[in-house]
Amino acid sequence: MILSVPLAVAVIGLFIGSFLNVCIHRIPREESIVFPSSRCPKCREKIRPWDNIPVLSYLFLRGRCRHCKEKISPRYPLVETLSALIALAMLYRFGLTAAFFIYYAWACVLLVITFIDIDYQIIPDSLSIGGIVVGLALVWWLPVSYPEALIGLGVGAGLLIVVIYGYYFLTGKQGMGGGDVKLLGMIGVFTGWEGVLFTIFMGSLLGSLVGIPWALLQKKNMQAAIPFGPFLALGAFINVLFGDMLIDWYFTVLS
Ligand SMILES: [Zn+2]
Repeated sequence: MILSVPLAVAVIGLFIGSFLNVCIHRIPREESIVFPSSRCPKCREKIRPWDNIPVLSYLFLRGRCRHCKEKISPRYPLVETLSALIALAMLYRFGLTAAFFIYYAWACVLLVITFIDIDYQIIPDSLSIGGIVVGLALVWWLPVSYPEALIGLGVGAGLLIVVIYGYYFLTGKQGMGGGDVKLLGMIGVFTGWEGVLFTIFMGSLLGSLVGIPWALLQKKNMQAAIPFGPFLALGAFINVLFGDMLIDWYFTVLS
């Protein structure tokens, strides 16, 4: 068979990535993600289907609008490529199972949250609280039990509330927002409480690795640092893919 499963998954992932770009652009503006069809943000000219092929159209048009020649952000092909890679990673992790479809959709939501948080420093409730509701409805098909999902939700949201208040108490500054609390609760539904702890650990580690040099370069104080949501999202993604493996490895090294 020429069209193997991974190839099909990657191609569908690219097209879903194209839709995720629409979500990233429109959800914070509270616009419909279905209508109208995509337009150039500069000249408002409708983008034709053949100019809207993931990655390829960007390369073919050399990153510019066909009509007004305005530069198109390289983020569009980036998100499409990430979507395809995430689909392949989830296929590798779960095979063609219900868990694959659910965790891929979940990772897509995390990807959308990541870029919206980078742009606006907000995490829309429709994605975090929406994810909690949908996640709880889908637990039956996931490798977590209902108690694990509920404890994950409680631990995720609860622990972050403690961290936020603790940070505020110690420094008098607000480091993270309520959006991160709801996001971590949502992550907990899909990963259980152990996954949430891993996510906080990994998110903080990645956040420090990137955030501290960033803050030093910017010569601003740490509170003006980058949003935490993307690191939580990345930590959660790493947990679903490699969490068990990394924890096993950690305890092997310890003993
Ligand atoms: Zn244009």
